[in-house]
Amino acid sequence: MDQHHTFTVTPVNNEANLRDQSSGGRSPTLRVPVSTFDIDGEPTDTLTQNSITSLLSSKFRDVAKRWKQYGVDSPRFRKRIHSKWESMNYEEMDSQLTRKNREGKQSKKKLALEMLSSWVIYFFIGVGTAFLAAGVQISVELIAHQKFELIKDYFDKCDKEGCLYKPVLIWMGINAGITLVGAALVTYVQPMAAGSGIPLIKSYLNGVRVPGLLSLRAFISKCVGVVLSILGGLACGKEGPMAHSGGIMAAGLGKGRIPWFGKDINIYGLFRNDHNIRDLVAAGAASGVSAAFGAPIGGTLFSVEEAASFWNTELVWKVFFSAMIACFSTNVLLSAFEGHPTQLSNPGLVRFNVFPNLTFDLIEVPVFIFIATIGGLTGSLFVVMNYKLTVFRQKYLHRKKWIKVLEAGLVSAVSAVAAFLLMFSVNDCTEKHPYSHHAITTKLGCSGESHNSMSTMFLTTPEGCLKSLLHDPLEMYSVWSLVLFVVVFFLLGVWTYGLSVSSGVFIPSLAIGAAWGRLIGLGVVQLFPDQAKDVGKYALIGAASQLGGILRTTISLTVIIVECTGDITFGLCIMISLMISKWVGDFFTTGLYDMNVEVSGIPLLSWEPPPLCEDVHVSDFMSQPVMTLLSVERVGHIYDCLSGESFNGFPVIEQDPNYDLMYRGKLKGIILRHQLLVLLKKKMFCPEGQLPAASITLKDFENPYPVPQRLKIQDIELSDADKQCVMDLTPYMNLTPYTASISFSMPRVFRLFRGLGLRHLVVVNDNTEPIGMVTRKDLAKYRAEIKKGMLHMEQLT
Ligand code: ATP
Repeated sequence: MDQHHTFTVTPVNNEANLRDQSSGGRSPTLRVPVSTFDIDGEPTDTLTQNSITSLLSSKFRDVAKRWKQYGVDSPRFRKRIHSKWESMNYEEMDSQLTRKNREGKQSKKKLALEMLSSWVIYFFIGVGTAFLAAGVQISVELIAHQKFELIKDYFDKCDKEGCLYKPVLIWMGINAGITLVGAALVTYVQPMAAGSGIPLIKSYLNGVRVPGLLSLRAFISKCVGVVLSILGGLACGKEGPMAHSGGIMAAGLGKGRIPWFGKDINIYGLFRNDHNIRDLVAAGAASGVSAAFGAPIGGTLFSVEEAASFWNTELVWKVFFSAMIACFSTNVLLSAFEGHPTQLSNPGLVRFNVFPNLTFDLIEVPVFIFIATIGGLTGSLFVVMNYKLTVFRQKYLHRKKWIKVLEAGLVSAVSAVAAFLLMFSVNDCTEKHPYSHHAITTKLGCSGESHNSMSTMFLTTPEGCLKSLLHDPLEMYSVWSLVLFVVVFFLLGVWTYGLSVSSGVFIPSLAIGAAWGRLIGLGVVQLFPDQAKDVGKYALIGAASQLGGILRTTISLTVIIVECTGDITFGLCIMISLMISKWVGDFFTTGLYDMNVEVSGIPLLSWEPPPLCEDVHVSDFMSQPVMTLLSVERVGHIYDCLSGESFNGFPVIEQDPNYDLMYRGKLKGIILRHQLLVLLKKKMFCPEGQLPAASITLKDFENPYPVPQRLKIQDIELSDADKQCVMDLTPYMNLTPYTASISFSMPRVFRLFRGLGLRHLVVVNDNTEPIGMVTRKDLAKYRAEIKKGMLHMEQLT
């Protein structure tokens, strides 16, 4: 970056610095401007080097310096925190109303009924996800088989007649046609269905509201879209989308409401709050992974490790139950489809199948470590290339919807051409029979009994390709075939991930890793022909390392792969390779999902607080002055607050009569924007000294769930007389909000947010008067500020 580069900052709230509301005599710390660079670098304000230096308080600079000195790894892709992302209300309300409601529920019968219905819902999440997974699998397998048979027939015919352009054109046409439909579905119906969905599910479970993520439109686009993406020949899998679809189904079952053409079909409303829906979505995601891989333990751990943030034993048990039901039901359904319902031989959509000889010698461990290191390196390369492409797409391609659709069509057509060129140019002929009886092969340039070996990898779905690479005989693929396959499939994988289609990255990553793992295996067999006779296990370690290098998930991936292979003896090798590939990868970049989250500007809170920030205190990053409401408040003032600010939480105070200054007093509770909106809508106010005529129950607050998409301040009409009325907030506000004193350190606040799933933290002084407000964005932004501060200072001096 040159000396003249400008900085983009949002203006510092000067008012905050002017009004130090008795922060215990501490001088107000200059707040660092938020979110510097936009992804497309468009400034709102520009500052020179000097002005940014003066804006950074010495404390922030110290921390930045220490980060640099200790070589602390900071997120590399974060560009901004986008204000559009709101938080969920995972914290349970503790108001007079909820207390009364809880007392009414104390009867044993009611509690038992509630518990039973929750188990029934978890059961149906498992069954529903299984039906979904089986439906997707059966449609993909049936149609894909027909497609590849047709292409093979044309290849065989045209190989002799010299009309090879025909099958290529047909292949391209089929691919592009199907993908265009899939991409249009996602782009125009619900863009939230694009990609694997796991980064967004992860953000949702972390506490970020993602509008449209759990909608019916997203469900249809995701399920139909993933079938079309695979049939369209894209380098993608259906496992990520399965987790997302499982999550949507779980949320739908929990809400008991189907939004249908703008109308709601209400069934029941037992679980209709953020807290319960979050738990159900975690179960849905776990069931999706479980059904996809036939790995209930792996699915549960995936939900714990990758997605969910708040856990307790009972929740893990329920999630595991759903995952187990999903795995079992998928097995029954797929086995029934194959005509042997009682044999139960299809526990998941992707099976790595049995390796006949999955034992290892200790002297092989260095080879596995070498493979894992390559996995970490290539994984980081994948993430970096995909990041560059994502930025390019956001800048130039994704401004118009039709361009997104066109790009997807182009990638699928190119995938067909690339496959043909590889099959044709390498012309690797073999007489060996592929491992799978269903494999489709073509002669294409081969004579006699032999067939084109590369066709086994390309005339099939990505899952089929993975199985071939893991299990096909040793001599099946030449070195050149594997090298070219890795290069081409890697590039196609990078290009495909991030397209506006429903697609997962698990299977292509595994296939890429299996191919280069096999290549290394061939080398080992050449070097030690007496010891090594099989390349399958090297392909397996390669697959695991590649996936680990891209995703950086360790525990769940180890368990998923062990469950998929059904062999625990090899578990240690898989674990070591995943661990090393993660370490190597983390040295260069964050994982693919985290990169996605960062690029989208989602305020996700990681497991650990930012390092070396122990002496940064809450006063350094809280917002002040706080916008508060009185416990008995004038309606006009509430209306003005809601229209004037977008805040979602307002501390409620009791006015201290000793102060002339308005809105100063002890904290009594906190009330959320959506509660105020419901209260205004229901006209829960009255002229001063009277009681409101209307009444309200807890259901009224839950019914408009999810509120932000439904009720807005603009929807509420109030007359001048209404605005003169007063509203008593005491029965509805949260009576026990979490508070912090001014001396709380950053890591402490971070852990409070992360551990309790907080949305708002009120900072109070010694007299319990609110003097500051902290939200998740304040914490997430902090990391970005430090990073930007450090980076720019570093580059400019
Ligand atoms: P969320 O978006 O997480 O639902 P929110 O809308 O209340 O919560 P943010 O959007 O994170 O809050 O708020 C943006 C900024 O406003 C943050 O810096 C936050 O500290 C500040 N803020 C939030 N509520 C108040 C308030 N009542 N008074 C003053 N500042 C506030």
